[in-house]
Amino acid sequence: MPSPLEEMTTEKLVSLIEFHNRKYWDDAAPEISDEEYDSLLRELASRDPRHPLLEKVLSPKITGASTVRHASPMLSLDKAYSHGELLEWAAKFARDENEPFLAQPKYDGISASLADGVLATRGDGFEGEDISDKLPLINLEKATYKGPPAGDARGEIVIRNDDFKNLYPNILKKDGKPYKNQRNAVAGIVGLKDISGMILQGARLTLVDYGTHTETISLAELKDKSRWSQIIEKFSALPYPMDGIVLKLKDSAYSDSLGSTAHHPRGQIAFKFSGTRAVSTIKHIEWSFGKKFLTPLAVIEPVEIGGTTIKKLTLHNYRFLKTNDIQIGDKIVVERAGDVIPHIVSCEAGPDRRPADIGNCPSCATKLLVEGPELMCPNPECPELKIQRLLAAVRNIGIERLGEPTIRKMSETLGVKCLKDIFSLSKEQIATLEGFKSKSSENLYNEIQAARSTCDFELLASLNIQGIGKNIAKSMLQKFTLDELRRMDADKLEQIPGIGPERAKELFERLKDKSDSIDELTAALDLVQSKGAGGQPKRTICFTGKMPQPRSHYEKLAEANGWTPADSVTESLHLLVAADSSGNSSKLQKASKLGIKTLTLDEWMKTLGATQEPRSTARTKDNTDSLLPGF
Ligand SMILES: [Zn+2]
Repeated sequence: MPSPLEEMTTEKLVSLIEFHNRKYWDDAAPEISDEEYDSLLRELASRDPRHPLLEKVLSPKITGASTVRHASPMLSLDKAYSHGELLEWAAKFARDENEPFLAQPKYDGISASLADGVLATRGDGFEGEDISDKLPLINLEKATYKGPPAGDARGEIVIRNDDFKNLYPNILKKDGKPYKNQRNAVAGIVGLKDISGMILQGARLTLVDYGTHTETISLAELKDKSRWSQIIEKFSALPYPMDGIVLKLKDSAYSDSLGSTAHHPRGQIAFKFSGTRAVSTIKHIEWSFGKKFLTPLAVIEPVEIGGTTIKKLTLHNYRFLKTNDIQIGDKIVVERAGDVIPHIVSCEAGPDRRPADIGNCPSCATKLLVEGPELMCPNPECPELKIQRLLAAVRNIGIERLGEPTIRKMSETLGVKCLKDIFSLSKEQIATLEGFKSKSSENLYNEIQAARSTCDFELLASLNIQGIGKNIAKSMLQKFTLDELRRMDADKLEQIPGIGPERAKELFERLKDKSDSIDELTAALDLVQSKGAGGQPKRTICFTGKMPQPRSHYEKLAEANGWTPADSVTESLHLLVAADSSGNSSKLQKASKLGIKTLTLDEWMKTLGATQEPRSTARTKDNTDSLLPGF
């Protein structure tokens, strides 16, 4: 145990903060929790509030093109660590019990502002770095807008949880490894001098405007706590990394009249999630299947932290379970930190503990093997692994409405084993599945048929080859056909820009292993070839219904992502995007009749890569002078 903080000399404290700072920002390998790190900073602030290290630490340096002055300062916030501290602050500034406050998520990323097409970091609050060269990676989210950067915004650059899960396992750093966590990935990518590799790999960052998610709460409601818990629960379910909630006076004129200290506006405070811990017991340990490995999950005595009930915790992998000697019956301390995923902080042996070892695969009874930190079923025919792989393939090929429960039913009652089997199902076969009526089986059948018309890169991405996501696949297939790629050896593949030796080796081997199923699939599919299609395969898209932005906005977005907008629904149309899928516009009816794939606007927006969005709003680096008079 380190010596108590109060006994540490300031010199030692400063060097400790600098050490953990380097670990975090330079090595991307933090050794202490955010809460512990914050307590070091708070100790230093209590001794010397003006210590230069505090300013430096609170606004990490990002390599940008040049400096940008903010229209109004972007100050950091004062912090509260408990409901009591928060209430104390609110009571100090509330003029009566009904004083309204706004609660907003405190996103865990990099504060940034977008003004006149220039994207800048918060910097010291008054001046930030111009990072407009990162705009091609940015998707903007505001209360009434989602899409490429447009207009002005002030918020946080983050990686959405779903993006981190779906895109980032395939996005590699220069050292060939994936990013460990969202915050390090954001800092790493925003700090890059050249983002062409990130664009190629389909990296996506989200600038979420502070006003996107807002709740109002009065002082009286804040005291009662149940409304506060409700807000925490609601925000926790949002798909962003966050480490707290910002509470501010709703009356901005009144808030401004309070002014600010050197660091914090008085009318706002950040409630930090960290410190929210609870004690529980492990009831049993479940094993959940992924595409390749089995992940242990601790089923615990339910505990409530910050208004959310926690019943299960991930134990990450087999090695984590073993090295920490976690067993059934053990007492644990659970923390739900800012990233919302609860985790185990410590584990103490229980009186009647027993190990959670499983020797054999729960699905096929094959003896399990340890591979690196993971536990895996080595049986290539393992039914559960096949279902997980099939599910991943179905997602990549774009049959959005075919979920895990239906895939299970298809496998159990119709003998579906692979993607090809799904394409050969008849309407009548689907109708025999439990829970399917004639309408729903027809819809699913039509969607499956519509997915036959797919781009070759979507097929390649659906093969679940490590490191080969949609964007890499797309860039390769624009230069070579799938057949050409399949004929190349690892040395040849390595010479394709952005591939590198490890990806090349993996790609070569997997294309060879999967040769038969690729043959079957290409025969079942109506593949659109990317090569020779003028850089973009011609796929047509049509929009229907009233959308939040003008139609032309979405058409431009579609074009930037390789689609050709069409005005009407014809047989050759590839995709219809509807503002409301339950609507009954003539376009929707016609698409359903012709078996044309239909997505809601939300679903479609999620499928977009952020690689080629319009950049008309971005200014060149040399243009910053002309921006100054506006400030
Ligand atoms: Zn198995």
